[in-house]
This record gives sequence, structure tokens and C-alpha cells, in this order.
Amino acid sequence: MRGVVIVGAQWGDEGKGKVVDHYALVADLVVRYQGGANAGHTLVVGGQKTVLHLVPSGILHPGKMCAVGPGCVVDPVAFLDEVEALRAVGLTVDASSLMLSERAHLVLPVHRALDAARESAAGPGRIGTTGRGIGPAYEDAVARRGVRFADLSDPDYLRARVEALHFERNLLLTGLGAAPQSVGPTVELLLELRDRLAPLLGDVGRLVAEGAAAGLRVLYEGAQGTLLDVLHGSYPYVTSSSTVAANAASGVGVGPGLLGAVIGITKAYCTRVGAGPFPTELDDMLGERLRAVGHEYGATTGRPRRCGWLDVPALRYAARLNGLTGLALTKLDVLSGLETVRIAVGYRWRGQRWDELPAEPVAITEVEPIYETLPGWSEPLGEARALADLPSAARAFVERVAELSGVPVALVSVGPDREALIELVAPFG
Ligand code: GDP
Repeated sequence: MRGVVIVGAQWGDEGKGKVVDHYALVADLVVRYQGGANAGHTLVVGGQKTVLHLVPSGILHPGKMCAVGPGCVVDPVAFLDEVEALRAVGLTVDASSLMLSERAHLVLPVHRALDAARESAAGPGRIGTTGRGIGPAYEDAVARRGVRFADLSDPDYLRARVEALHFERNLLLTGLGAAPQSVGPTVELLLELRDRLAPLLGDVGRLVAEGAAAGLRVLYEGAQGTLLDVLHGSYPYVTSSSTVAANAASGVGVGPGLLGAVIGITKAYCTRVGAGPFPTELDDMLGERLRAVGHEYGATTGRPRRCGWLDVPALRYAARLNGLTGLALTKLDVLSGLETVRIAVGYRWRGQRWDELPAEPVAITEVEPIYETLPGWSEPLGEARALADLPSAARAFVERVAELSGVPVALVSVGPDREALIELVAPFG
């Protein structure tokens, strides 16, 4: 059975949480392949809001297995807090429902200290991280001084790893004018948490490969979005991991042959948190309206998101990079009540037309979107469960997005509730 990859097709916050939650209904195994607790999946279940930062949202469905792959970086305290919060609402969170990769790297207090020291020192160079130490933890993984969950099994080895990491990181911390972090309390904390973590640790790649071979339906869940990918995104305004679908295999520890459908989540408009180019940004009342109606504030940080029209050149780029087989178009309802809606269908830059997001930093900040204007609709969409339930202008918008992006629409989300969606193509066929 080939799996389904869910990937953000924009700058993150596309409503992945809800889509993964919906697809998890028909999946057996849901596994996160990258990122850390900087993701914020907001789910509304029975009118109650739950924000998950790390644990896959499939955990909300009893009987599903969830996993956090080796491509993720995990703050053990935040992870256990999330586990306890889920248990507190009556969910079973144990080895039968959740596995954390023993190969995943730890986010340590020193990583958070580095994030904080850099943010206060950097001034105009800030890239606006969530301050959770994710970036520094990925840096240490690549620099071969990271600490992994498997390292917890041997206290002497663990101490040596933590010491080596602190030796280098404290040089930087003190260089930035911040206090150095001591090794002892970190090692003590980790040894204290070890027994609570141990039952949840395992080989996620093996779990997924064996599950797929036995016919289980696997959902691969990414965090953030394609345009934040460390290699392919709007560099340097990117996240520290690879968000694209191809990394779903490596970030879990299976071969790419296990991946099947790739669903890209896109809002019916665009948002972006923090600094960085955003060609279709609206600085006016309309942007303000999208923010207010779409509740566009960060799930993790509460930061207001920048809002703008749907950007098809960026979406085409995401479609090509991920090999998207379907789109999940979310928040269509947020556009209700506008007289006309616009879609950027291309860019113009220095007299030339561009059909995809360019790589040059100057181009990406200077491009001027070429817009197509479509008739709007006034009706609320929250009750629609089939395309035929949509007003004809909203239907035309959905059809136009598929046509312009070259990707068929598999799902349309029309409200925050779990049931508020139109399913056009079932994820596992
Ligand atoms: P994620 O990290 O990609 O899941 O994105 P967010 O955490 O920003 O979640 C998006 C927010 O939008 C959540 O509060 C959802 O409940 C909400 N949401 C998801 N889909 C829709 C939709 O189709 N319409 C509306 N109005 N809200 C939605």
C-alpha cells in the first residue's frame, strides 16, 4: 500500500491540521517527517480547540498509530507536556498509539538560549523564529554534535555528548553576550525524563516499512510549507528543515517507493508569518479583512500573519517541487462577501513575465503580480458538502485554481469545523 503525503504548498499555516485530521480517519498510521514543536496545528473537535505542536493530529482518533520520525527535532519537555495534555482529555497515549524515533535529535535548553540570544542580538537581520530552539538543534545535527534520543540509554555517553555540544555552543552564547549554559542540569533533566520517554521510543522507519508491507495506510505529515523549505524555499527566509514531499521518505526512514499520492494544502488566499518576500501581500483594508475573517494569527506565537491574494506562480512551483497529485483548498469561506476576488496568475519583473516563483532575492521581492479578477460571492459556504452546494462564483474559483495550477482539487475546506469540507477525491483511492 503506497502512502499519502500531506505537504503545505505555501508558507505554512495552510490548515494542514484539519486536512491531516480528516485523512487520518481513513489512515492506520500517521507520521511526522520534519520540523519540531514550531508547528502549530489547530484542530477544532466538538467545538473545542486543541493545538498540537509535535504529536501528529491522528492521535485524536482512537485506534490509530502515530509516530514522530527521525527527521524531526524534539524538545523532550515539550513533547511530554503534549503527551500529558492529550492524556488529560482522555486519550490513550502509550506505545500502542505513539512512537518517537530514537534517531530524532533533541532540542535542549541551550538551543532555546541560542535562539533568544540571536533574536535579541541580530537587530535587522532577524528572521523571526518561534524561539523554540528548532534551528540551533538542526544545526547541531548537521554539525555532528547533536544529541539523539538513542543516546539517553547510556548516561556516560550522554554526558560526553552534552558536554561536547555545550563546549561549542557556549562559545557562541558568550560571544553574543548571553550567559553560558551549564551541562549538569541538562544531563540531570534528561536522565530524569528518560523513564517516561523510554516506552515511546522506537525505530519509526521500521514501524512504517513493516506497516506498509502489511497493507496499512500511512499518512506522512509535514510541517510548515514548501516555500519555507531550507533548500527550495524563499531563502534565507526559510525554516531549518526540508519541508517538501521528497523528504517524507528520508524524514521517516523509508524508501521513496512507499510514497504515493502527494496532497498540497493551499488556502484560497496567501499568508506569511515573519519577514521575507511575499509578492501578493495586501497592505490595505482588504489584507486586514482577510486577517480578521480568517483569524490569521500564529497558533504558536500569536503573531499576526501577513495576508494577500492567492499566488499561482508560487503554487505552480510548489506543485512541481512536490509532484503534487492533488490540492486541498482551504478557507474558501473566508473569501465570502467580497465583490470580486483576485488570483495572481504570473509575475512581471524587469519587463519579463515569470510563471513560477524565482530564486533571485531581488526578483522575488520586486516581482509584480499579474492578477486575474473573478466575480465574488456573498453566501456563507460553511454548510456546503458538495461542489454543487457552492454558489457558482465560488465553484468557478475552485475550477480556476485547478486549471491555473495544473493540479486537480481533491478537497475543499469551507470552515474550521471537522465536517466543513467537500471531498472530491478519496486520499487512498
Ligand atoms: P496548520 O498549521 O496548517 O494546521 O494551520 P493553522 O494552525 O493556522 O490552522 C488553520 C486555522 O484555520 C485553524 O484555526 C483552523 O481551525 C482554521 N481552518 C482550517 N480550515 C478552515 C477553513 O476551511 N475555513 C476556516 N474559516 N477556517 C479554517
